[in-house]
Amino acid sequence: MSVGSENMPAAAPAVSTRPAFVRHAPYFIAAAIVVALAATMQFDGYVLNILMQATTFSIAVFGLSVVLGLCGQINLAQAAFFGFGAYAVGIGTTDLQMNYWLCLGVGCLVALAAGAFLGMSTLRLGGHYLAMVTISFQQIVTLVMINAIWLTHGPDGVSRIGRPALFTTSQGYLAFCVAMLAIVGYLVWHLPDTKLGRAMRAVRDNELAAGVNGIDVFRTKVYAFAICAALGGLAGGLFAGGFAYVSPDQFSFAESIVFLTMSLLGGVASPIGSAIGTGLLILIPEWLRFLKSVPGLYLAIYGLFVILIIRFMPDGIWGFVAAALDKWRTKIKTSPATKPLQLKPAAVGGGIVLEVQGLSKHFGGLKAVDNVDIAVRRGGVHALIGPNGSGKTTTLNVLSGLYKATSGRIVLDGVDITTMPPHQRTAAGLGRTFQNIRLFRSMTALENVEIGAERPGNTMIGAGGGAALTERAMEALTFVGLGSRANEPITSFSYGHQRLIEIARALASNPTLLLLDEPAAGLNSTEKLELHELLKRIAAQGLTILIIDHDMTLVSEAAQHITVLNFGRRIADGESMAVLRHPDVVSAYLGSE
Ligand code: ADP
Ligand code: MG
Repeated sequence: MSVGSENMPAAAPAVSTRPAFVRHAPYFIAAAIVVALAATMQFDGYVLNILMQATTFSIAVFGLSVVLGLCGQINLAQAAFFGFGAYAVGIGTTDLQMNYWLCLGVGCLVALAAGAFLGMSTLRLGGHYLAMVTISFQQIVTLVMINAIWLTHGPDGVSRIGRPALFTTSQGYLAFCVAMLAIVGYLVWHLPDTKLGRAMRAVRDNELAAGVNGIDVFRTKVYAFAICAALGGLAGGLFAGGFAYVSPDQFSFAESIVFLTMSLLGGVASPIGSAIGTGLLILIPEWLRFLKSVPGLYLAIYGLFVILIIRFMPDGIWGFVAAALDKWRTKIKTSPATKPLQLKPAAVGGGIVLEVQGLSKHFGGLKAVDNVDIAVRRGGVHALIGPNGSGKTTTLNVLSGLYKATSGRIVLDGVDITTMPPHQRTAAGLGRTFQNIRLFRSMTALENVEIGAERPGNTMIGAGGGAALTERAMEALTFVGLGSRANEPITSFSYGHQRLIEIARALASNPTLLLLDEPAAGLNSTEKLELHELLKRIAAQGLTILIIDHDMTLVSEAAQHITVLNFGRRIADGESMAVLRHPDVVSAYLGSE
């Protein structure tokens, strides 16, 4: 999704002015043709079954491309959500004699609710734990399907499942499923360009950075999980109508693995990959059918196929193709923004922007930050210095909410933010960069900065929607001198430029207070001078900066006020020149000699 037409800067709006339905017309025309073919071609029963399975499975696998591909969260229970939809239509249209559409809707909702519930109770875990919990959930659902005979008919399954009156023939129903596939595919394809989609990609790329850029990480993950589950439910409901029969073994853990393999094989990052993977995993066994006379051989070759593809195309088949196509695509050259970046820091409180009182952060017995007071005055550069390991980064992490304070109080512009999660502090006006750069590495420079610009409460973004966001991001990139390279991926920038992009991302959000953690670290002397000049230009606009550094020269020239830490304690605080001459500071830096 690198250089889509949505990402054009305000200065070159030629492509983005065409409305979406005009730009996407070819897709809908192609989809309509495929639907018409599905409705009219005379397939035999065997082909019809394969097509029906591929169509419905693809929708379930689209769900995985959202949760895993877009948001980076594992779901090993997609067959269970598929089963919710299938049983809702199965039991609903037979035992309960309900309308098909109602059953399909209920199936989606039940899957959605189950997905949201599972997500809410487990997504704080992440990683292996999330995998384990989804497997357990899958097993529980399978057990219920088998044992709750009064409801599910147990291992016998449900047969004579109904279809909607509009599509009673198999061929007509297939056409309906293909149409649903086209619609869901379109929505999933364009999800990455929406606010929610951007949030999901940010969470996948770097959770910490997503949080401090105003994204509610937990909620984003729950949404991704719920969307995935709902698509599973929809797919299951369609599947039940297609085959008129469902039984527990169709929704087992093994099927969840099949869904996952389909999505990894085709390429989890895009719905095209999902469809390719699904088609292949359904077709390969059919192609190898002639081997069935030799026991075991068929499975061995099938397994080898899958292993080889994943070994040589780690991003899946479509990931491989897309990377090749990308090389040929002409990169969109961007021209820098025409308007200069405006920083209008909010000024609600008085002369003090940030008031920190008695702040402590202990890691077990280690007092990394110990009863520190800091008062940052509005409109200046305030430096926090100290030798390595003196607690500077820890202080910043407590300020931005990545660590919980052991004790103390933090007030930003009159608002007590001590207990807020990171994204709320960002919404309250905090912006920051990291000592070890944390950019969203799968995105372009512009996309990174757009995420910053999208901060809730950013008054600099008008009602212009995506265009206003892009404009603001272009202004910020131009401000740090990288406007002409906006559409390049992060990986093509030098270390120094990546730092500048991180600063641009924070500036785009129009913060009240900017926290910079060792921005000069790793820069050469020319880059340091450029950075120094940039800090001056930021400060000239009235934005307050709290900068961490251990480079005394940068600090003594840039900052008016300095706080010095040593072993977690504040050893000096005050006007720059006086602090730098303070005997405790001199001995902390140079030794008591
Ligand atoms: P600085 O940024 O001033 O170089 P830090 O704030 O990174 O220092 O570290 C201060 C102290 O806290 C160090 O002794 C460090 O080892 C410790 N520390 C920092 N983060 C953690 C953590 N997550 N867990 C345990 N100890 C930590
Ligand atoms: Mg540090």
